[in-house]
Amino acid sequence: MSAHPSKEKTLVIIKPDGIQRSLVGEIIKRYERLGLKLVGVKMTIPSEEHVEKHYLIDPEWIRKVGEKSIGSYKKKGIKPPSENPEEVGNSVLERLKKYMSSGPVLAMVWQGNQAVGIVRKITGGTEPLTSDVGTIRGDLTIDSYKIADTDDRPIRNLIHASGTLEDAEKEINLWFNEKEVMNYRLVQEQILYDVNLDGILE
Ligand code: GDP
Ligand code: MG
Repeated sequence: MSAHPSKEKTLVIIKPDGIQRSLVGEIIKRYERLGLKLVGVKMTIPSEEHVEKHYLIDPEWIRKVGEKSIGSYKKKGIKPPSENPEEVGNSVLERLKKYMSSGPVLAMVWQGNQAVGIVRKITGGTEPLTSDVGTIRGDLTIDSYKIADTDDRPIRNLIHASGTLEDAEKEINLWFNEKEVMNYRLVQEQILYDVNLDGILE
């Protein structure tokens, strides 16, 4: 039997820019007030090898990020540095390795109904300039593909959040060992998930 939907877990990383902007409390608050449960947390300075492993968990990621990047150049009427998605994807990865290992990051595991999708929604789209208002990336930072590409660096968008349930499971295993992910009850889960709300009235 598969686990109850309320048990879904996802990985969130506050990237070095989030730490340097002193936004840890503000970012955690956004996930916490949704009703998600924090079940793991760790501050670490990841190695470039670790960052590479992280992004290569999805074997399609290099190609997908390359295609997205080429598309964004063309939308701006600029000739992309290469027409080969693998090549462009690899250069995004090289920049990301330097960025993500430049200082401490905060890795977290959040649990709750549809945690992967809900976290992506509240985190917002990749480019802060066009992320929806009300999302973390849309409200709290300012970066764009244009300036990042001009300066040959990755977009600084405060957060990494797992893209799919499958990636989430693998990413959590890469950043946390079993003992570091807590199994506990939060009292608020009763109002979020209980079928029978008896016990409220005295
Ligand atoms: P995410 O899931 O929204 O974080 O986006 P991706 O998984 O596609 O990309 C991972 C990270 O690489 C993003 O969060 C950005 O920091 C960076 N990035 C992705 N695409 C580009 C790009 O086209 N140009 C630049 N400069 N950075 C990018
Ligand atoms: Mg991603």
